[in-house]
Amino acid sequence: MLVILHPNIDETSDAFLHTWKHLTELPGIDVKKHLVSGELQVLTEIYLIGNTAALAIEDIQGLPAVERVVRISEEYRMIGRHKDDRRSIGFSYNGVTFNQDNLHIFAGLCAVDTAEHVERMMQALQAHGQVCTRMGAYKPRTNPYSFQGHGKDCLPYVFELAGKYGIKVIAMEITHESHIEEIDTALERLGRPTGVMLQVGTRNTQNFELLKFIGRQQTYPVLFKRGFGISLAESLNAAEYLATYGNSRIVFCLRGMKASFASPHRNMVDFAHVPVLKRLTRLPVCVDPSHSVGTRQAAPDGMLDLFHVTAQGIISGANMVLVDFHPEPSKALVDGPQALLLEELPYFLEDVRIAREAYEKRRALTERFKV
Ligand code: PEP
Ligand code: MN
Repeated sequence: MLVILHPNIDETSDAFLHTWKHLTELPGIDVKKHLVSGELQVLTEIYLIGNTAALAIEDIQGLPAVERVVRISEEYRMIGRHKDDRRSIGFSYNGVTFNQDNLHIFAGLCAVDTAEHVERMMQALQAHGQVCTRMGAYKPRTNPYSFQGHGKDCLPYVFELAGKYGIKVIAMEITHESHIEEIDTALERLGRPTGVMLQVGTRNTQNFELLKFIGRQQTYPVLFKRGFGISLAESLNAAEYLATYGNSRIVFCLRGMKASFASPHRNMVDFAHVPVLKRLTRLPVCVDPSHSVGTRQAAPDGMLDLFHVTAQGIISGANMVLVDFHPEPSKALVDGPQALLLEELPYFLEDVRIAREAYEKRRALTERFKV
């Protein structure tokens, strides 16, 4: 059961203290408090865990600090959508709002290689009005002899250049909890010129200790990738770890499923699950066409498969696109063959705009025919 308190409730007020005492004294019920900070208000959510079937909603609804009570199902308590659930969807971070209604493009380097490439990428993004990017510093590689990323050594120039070119949010994968402190230290030293969205890669989807650690910190939101070889329910339960440990500022990313049938694509594109995720959860949904498709092959119509699947994700309502670009893909140290070229950025963004407009028209059409 979820108990939502009045916005901005003062925890020293009589109303709060009385309510808290009542809830924590309920026999056989564990109480978990969760603060949701929005742009204008802080919401206090209290989860009652245990045999809540025996509780009367009206009794709890009548407590002085309570705004409303929602009976939630067992699954995905925090990230899920439940019946009569009117909790807000999404979050704002560093001036950028992520929800299930808007769309942001995170074009950038799969792996940071040189400061010059980072600068050329960010320059191009700024020239085309973009404020988000992806930059890989810590790379989880299948082969131990492959380039592992520059790690913390590249953070100072990445963050400084991001500030210089007006980038507000960088999606950056971390593979170990110590990376959070490295990122935090580097950002703090530079006076926080930009923001970071911590990316959990598909190889770490079920790294529960890492998830707990990321969940316990409130500074950075999370881009959580679906596991490549587990069920959707398993990936969602893993994302729930982040929320239950304290961080529900999560974007859920589809990136294709490992399957021999996917060939000639790198992974089986799973963007048909965009509407499924929006129905099951309150999380904004991202698609990653680069790691799904993995090649620059084009269809006879001249369009790259990468463009086609991006449009497929957007036309069904995706809220974010994570996509690899590189100024000189032949020199990229990771995933060069799937990178788009800087010259393709305006073409890509215009194609995105067309797909998004089509989605918005489809939404309006649905509204018009609603019975
Ligand atoms: C990436 O985005 O660079 C990456 C490694 O993706 P994934 O975890 O989806 O393989
Ligand atoms: Mn990659």
